[in-house]
Amino acid sequence: MTHAPTGRLRLAYARIAQETNALSPVLTTLADFDSMHHITGEALGRACAKGGQEAEGFLANAELSGFVRACGGEADVTLVPISSAWAIPSGPLSRDCFEALTTELLDGLRAALPLDGVYLCLHGAMGVEGLPDPEGALLERVREVIGDIPLAVTMDLHANLTQRRMRTLDVLVGYATNPHRDHVRTAKLAGRLLLRRLRGEIQPTTAWRTLPLLVGGGTTLDFLPPMLGIFHRMRALERRGEVLTASVFMCHVWNDDPDLGWSVVVTTDGDQAKAEEIADELADRCWEARHEQPPKFASAQEAVAQAQRMKLRRKLGAITLADASDVVTAGAPGDTTCMLRALLEGGQGLRAYLPMRDPRAVAQLWKEDVGRELTLEVGGSLDPEVSEALEVTGVLRRKQEVPGMKRQCVLRIGDVELVITEGPPVTIRPSFFSDVGLDPWKADVLVVKNFFPFRLFFLPLSRKTIYVKTKGRTDLDAAFGLEFNEPLHPIEQVTEWRPTDARRRGLAS
Ligand SMILES: [Zn+2]
Repeated sequence: MTHAPTGRLRLAYARIAQETNALSPVLTTLADFDSMHHITGEALGRACAKGGQEAEGFLANAELSGFVRACGGEADVTLVPISSAWAIPSGPLSRDCFEALTTELLDGLRAALPLDGVYLCLHGAMGVEGLPDPEGALLERVREVIGDIPLAVTMDLHANLTQRRMRTLDVLVGYATNPHRDHVRTAKLAGRLLLRRLRGEIQPTTAWRTLPLLVGGGTTLDFLPPMLGIFHRMRALERRGEVLTASVFMCHVWNDDPDLGWSVVVTTDGDQAKAEEIADELADRCWEARHEQPPKFASAQEAVAQAQRMKLRRKLGAITLADASDVVTAGAPGDTTCMLRALLEGGQGLRAYLPMRDPRAVAQLWKEDVGRELTLEVGGSLDPEVSEALEVTGVLRRKQEVPGMKRQCVLRIGDVELVITEGPPVTIRPSFFSDVGLDPWKADVLVVKNFFPFRLFFLPLSRKTIYVKTKGRTDLDAAFGLEFNEPLHPIEQVTEWRPTDARRRGLAS
């Protein structure tokens, strides 16, 4: 539908976002959204306006304020804030939680009609108990309410794309950075494309491809090969105006969609053949990068022994041990005890800081006085199937409440400073430790429950990163044990991506 360029444009915006680890037994409820970020209507409008705090406590500006910046200053535009809900990565949303958020969004859109366009910020790897392709279902329900008006969507680059999603939306833009630091840019671009489309300045047309590829691209960081070249290529295409937008989605491997995999999306101004050609080229480049697998992982005992040997590096900074099996930013519960056990057994003389989520232990410690020595069980309380609780004796050094992270305690056990958190211990920045009074420069060993993003922020401090495979919900082999519709790289030897792509996009005969 084309709108008269002189008419006023009413554009609505909203968000429902969470990254789900399908293996985690810890369901995500409405309380998890409420405690992190959940606002509607005028409050959302104020939060996204200039000088506002879009997601208070963790991001001053993200997608929705980016969208507002792109469209809000235009004389012919009226913006209608609907709702915004964002929770930390964890297990699937409960069905009630998903229904409540969806109903809130749909009711808001219905009340805002008539609209000329809608912008939605989704994650793309959100799971809901008992509901396949929940974001596909959500998009279809949004479409039913808004009718045939342009719908622009942004997603995390760990999104999974399905035919249902691609059929329903008009414009899709993904993050172009990993770790993600371009939330604003992504939505600004989506907003501008939506606006130009409504003014009749462009006719976006999209091609996409989906690959039988779960893990590849080395560290998958945008500033390191092999992904660096692919991201450069996409930005150059955008700069030269050959495409309106191009995105690569590297999927979230702990997503239980049986058609999971990497995908690429290319949108041009009315040139479908060119969109198809560039989508093929980008898909081929991703497919070639499949052979570069993530770094090899040591066992917890090996990692501690390695850290013991690196005396000089410890003098100059710290050794970072990344517990790749319990990555809370990929939805793991964060309560495994394997790393702590290894440090207590083999880490004598190593001053180590270690995060652990354990609401039960926090509740117990909260009643105690700082300075007291006590014996208690830590870890293994949220996900006892994965690791057992460990009995430790230590001195309670600190208790504090942090917005978003809830209550935290520091327990000193020998040379280990254990940071016990009520909420997920997000250790992307060294400030996780300094915020509880632990100077990261004084540590020999820093344990993080994160994959790659932390490396950027730990760069000044970390002299060596050792990836550790313990046992947990972000083990790759755990993800590889999920059920898929066909062979996927690197679980199996797959030589061609095109047959899978054709079937998933409904082109196969
Ligand atoms: Zn992501």
